[in-house]
Amino acid sequence: MRKLSDADLARLRERTRLVHAGRNPEEQFGFVNTPVYRGSTVLYPSVDKLLDRNARFTYGTKGTPTTEALETAWTQLCGAAGSVAVPSGLAAVTLVLTAYLSSGDHLLMTDSVYRPTRQFCDGVLKRMGIETTFYDPSVGRGIADLMRPNTKMVFTEAPGSQSFEMQDIPAIAEVAHAKGAIVAMDNTWATPLFFPPHERGVDVAIEAGTKYLGGHSDILLGLVSANARAWPALRETFEAFGMCPGPEDVFLALRGLRTLALRLKEAEHQALAMAEWLAARPEVQTVLHPALPTCPGHDIWKRDFLGASGLFSVILKPAPRRAVAAMLDGLQLFGLGFSWGGFESLIIPFDCSSYRTATQWNPGGPALRLQIGLEDLDDLKADLDAGFERLRREAAAAA
Ligand SMILES: *Cc1c(COP(=O)(O)O)cnc(C)c1O
Repeated sequence: MRKLSDADLARLRERTRLVHAGRNPEEQFGFVNTPVYRGSTVLYPSVDKLLDRNARFTYGTKGTPTTEALETAWTQLCGAAGSVAVPSGLAAVTLVLTAYLSSGDHLLMTDSVYRPTRQFCDGVLKRMGIETTFYDPSVGRGIADLMRPNTKMVFTEAPGSQSFEMQDIPAIAEVAHAKGAIVAMDNTWATPLFFPPHERGVDVAIEAGTKYLGGHSDILLGLVSANARAWPALRETFEAFGMCPGPEDVFLALRGLRTLALRLKEAEHQALAMAEWLAARPEVQTVLHPALPTCPGHDIWKRDFLGASGLFSVILKPAPRRAVAAMLDGLQLFGLGFSWGGFESLIIPFDCSSYRTATQWNPGGPALRLQIGLEDLDDLKADLDAGFERLRREAAAAA
């Protein structure tokens, strides 16, 4: 088997790249996968080599063959200039925010962002003298009116966390770039397979590898990819913070990468079928799934995205809290839990109304977020069907 060069890989199709990127069996005694390298110290053969600082690996925090394999593969997949792997999705977010912002700078942050990201802005960034303005995710080109001379970054996330607002990323990027700001995106939902961030104008893209890349609810990992403009500051800040991930998690993310396309395709198929089934239920008011033509933001999804993953939300018709709790507490197949992207189905109730500041969250009924796993759809529907029965019974008893 002849070795693939980076140029060879670049012209191959995505599924082939997922199989080959970041692998170099020749360097691993012929074994298919790069193993878990555990190490802090790297030994040098001579004082000259130690002092010239050109070694491929110099110290554990700066990278090992295991992290290099994942980062190389991720860079390939994203069409980026470079990427770094960090210990969690949240670490990826905080790395991005600290790599490009300094005291006195202004940040534009989507109001629909992952809540811990918002909390980092309101806490650490504020303390560091960085001001955040939260903006309506549907702002589009209107972002121009919010830009100030010191606006250094526009942060996007699409669809919005829990509430699934879409964002016109190319339009936002065009305006932000004209004013010299960096465009960041939390791309966890779509992954680069369903939204190629750098082709759409994003300078620096975040992926919580904890979700679909791991795919089995057993790792914590983050990835950040950057284009040529954004890469130097990202790499420098990553090294400055010593934000290196654990080698087992990196290995498991590499393993997950090989089957990512298959799992995402199945997640898309399962979730869309479930979303359609839910949309026809009498207990459901709205389904927030960007691939459904009835969902706000569907046009943007259709124009910019290449697929939809397995996470979406529904708004129920008004029902007492107790009735919703009875529905969820009795489910046998859906777990109650926050992370997602694994093989198993999950459901949580949510309410964004207490913390949104640029938009109002008032959907007119209880909101549920669902992650559809790999179980048989009919079994999942039967589980929810029994749940709706409990909801109706409790609601009738309360009336
Ligand atoms: C889960 C998630 C994160 C954080 O990932 P962790 O690895 O759990 O820290 C960040 N952004 C989004 C959109 C997420 O869903």
